Amino acid sequence: MIGEKKLRVLLLVCGCLVVVLGLAALGLAFLYGYLPPADRAAQVVHLRDARQIDEEGFLVLVNETHPLPDDYEPEDLVNLAEARPKNTIGLKDISMRANKTAFAALCNLAADMKAEGYEGLTVIASYRDLEKQQELFRASFNGRDIFGKPYVQTPEATEHRTGLAFDLSVLDEDGQTLVFSETPHYTYVLEHMADYGFILRYPSDKQEITGIGYEPWHIRYVGKEAAVQMQAEGLCLEEYVQRLEDAGQSS
Ligand SMILES: [Zn+2]
Repeated sequence: MIGEKKLRVLLLVCGCLVVVLGLAALGLAFLYGYLPPADRAAQVVHLRDARQIDEEGFLVLVNETHPLPDDYEPEDLVNLAEARPKNTIGLKDISMRANKTAFAALCNLAADMKAEGYEGLTVIASYRDLEKQQELFRASFNGRDIFGKPYVQTPEATEHRTGLAFDLSVLDEDGQTLVFSETPHYTYVLEHMADYGFILRYPSDKQEITGIGYEPWHIRYVGKEAAVQMQAEGLCLEEYVQRLEDAGQSS
């Protein structure tokens, strides 16, 4: 026979066990609720955080670990042919679109270059929607060159979908595209673009961090304050965004 005292102790132990197990179950449910099972879902959550760094979204970080959701639609797109002030910048295709603020900044840069004798700066690519990016990706052997090296970002990871990125080149008098990095325009752009809010998004010395090879033609609008700071301190966008997050400015 179990004495009354022993029974009470047993009941108390069972009660405690139930409470502990219940709390553990609640804890697990909480964790699972906030940790999506797939990596990809976790990345999208992270992306939402990254986009909150600045109100306008000019600092949005898009890369292989921060892909854009499929239903992402940028705001404030303008048609470049309609938005450009006359004779400022060349366009490879008059149907191209881009973010209004970013393109206005690019036109200012192009106008100032022109005033200093740099003719022919031309936008080769700007905003691309997911479908267009998927097309490019498929046409490029799923983003790899003949050596198997990645050179076209996966459709979700290209920042051309934000409308904030531009590929630049220079057209000569015959309308031929020159190798941008071999033109004096490139040197000028490198030196001055931060004052207009642009960065070179894939510099040669940051390939390990960006995961993308050197792209001298690809510039990205981030706003003047960020661009000037990044240039002064030699930071790429991944590093800059990380620093803002570390400093707790992301809320
Ligand atoms: Zn590009």
